[in-house]
Amino acid sequence: MDSKKPIVMDDEDEGSTGPLKPPYQTPKGVHDILPHDQKFYTFMKKVVRHRCRQAGFKRITTPIFEFTDVFTRGIGASSDIVSKEMYTFQDRKGRSLTLKPESTAGVVRSYIQNGMQNLAQPVELYYIEPHFRYDRPQKGRYRMFWQFGFECIGESDPALDAQVIQLAHTILKDLGIAELFQLQLNSIGCEVCRPNYIQILRDFYFGKERSLCADCKYRLEKNPLRLLDCKEEDCQILAQIAPKLADYLCTECKEYDKNVKEFLEEMGISFKQNNSLVRGLDYYTKTVFEFWDKTDGAQNAIGGGGRYDGLVELMGGQKTPACGFAAGMERIIAAMKREKIRVPEKDDLHVFVAQLGDEAKKKCLPLIAELRERGVRTMGALGKGAIKTQMRLADKFKVPYTLILGLTEVREGTIIIRDMSVGTQVTVPFEKAVDEVIKRIGEKNLDRFSPTEVIV
Ligand code: AMP
Repeated sequence: MDSKKPIVMDDEDEGSTGPLKPPYQTPKGVHDILPHDQKFYTFMKKVVRHRCRQAGFKRITTPIFEFTDVFTRGIGASSDIVSKEMYTFQDRKGRSLTLKPESTAGVVRSYIQNGMQNLAQPVELYYIEPHFRYDRPQKGRYRMFWQFGFECIGESDPALDAQVIQLAHTILKDLGIAELFQLQLNSIGCEVCRPNYIQILRDFYFGKERSLCADCKYRLEKNPLRLLDCKEEDCQILAQIAPKLADYLCTECKEYDKNVKEFLEEMGISFKQNNSLVRGLDYYTKTVFEFWDKTDGAQNAIGGGGRYDGLVELMGGQKTPACGFAAGMERIIAAMKREKIRVPEKDDLHVFVAQLGDEAKKKCLPLIAELRERGVRTMGALGKGAIKTQMRLADKFKVPYTLILGLTEVREGTIIIRDMSVGTQVTVPFEKAVDEVIKRIGEKNLDRFSPTEVIV
């Protein structure tokens, strides 16, 4: 590339200095997940899979992109996600497609499309997937981010809402961060009581429009519930004195809410009633909840969910109640790092094999293969020259042991095992090398996976 050529930048990248930057960068708000962070994702995925399996949930993967209508219909045209945050594009035949900004709408589309209403209900599904939102990038807010989540479709009972919350809580506990977050809980009513409340809310705001931010003026018309959770100071002052939905719930919603809370108390899960929690999406009914960071509240909510009894029908299925939860994995990892939570590290090498000369190299290849086969994570410096250079490399890889095969060892049929932490070494017969290494590493630390053993 011609270094004098100016680098073409996204208008949002203005201010970054061109010439020092490599020519190709990730778009703003998206990141590589580098090897040193993979262990957090692996650990979290294991915890989620384990807890979901225990609770009878089965994994589902919906496509990364769907027809745009799936989201506009499901999430609601007036929501922030649909109105400002979707990555929408046309395919070669002019059809409108969208990268999924959340998974519930896609899971419900799949439930209907695949006739899951004919299965035993509730159908319990979980996912671990990347999502895409054209948000303004900042700490904890990215344009591509990972969520895990679960949906329980086909039944309505306060005990199910409580169970979904408990599953989320258990996963946060397993990850070592449950104590950092507080469960915020609210009921946003149903099709019977909500329309009445929305009219009351509109009446309350009548004549006060001038005090609202531009977004809230729009919300007042399209999605008045969202007025309650606006972060602008003036809007918040009004929201605090606005009529509370809790006072207008129908008998059924009130009873349902009371039962959810009783079940949570029964399970020892503490929560805070939050009258302004509405969640941004149109599809919720009755229970809504979020886990808020105890220090900075909604700003860094780790996840949320609720009941969505109207969504399956709205998307063309039969009337089917459901509830679910989704959590942001990047935010969870940030919290785990803040708490200095240690997760298993399986990428560390056990052994480095250094060799000198063609004969040694020939003997090394089957040795390396056998070490790996027996579960020893092994790296060989097969392209490198002097033993000294190779030893420096072994140091850089921070291996606990190095095997050294030089000209003398080849001639004598031996090999050197060097303990890198103390700098001592012993010479052992070549054919004993693997057993001797395993003795030192310890059987329980070996990295073994045998696909045929798993299938029984
Ligand atoms: P939501 O359903 O929109 O509340 O999203 C559920 C969770 O996903 C949030 O609580 C966040 O942890 C996470 N999340 C949502 N949007 C983003 C984003 N743009 N970047 C990173 N995480 C996000």
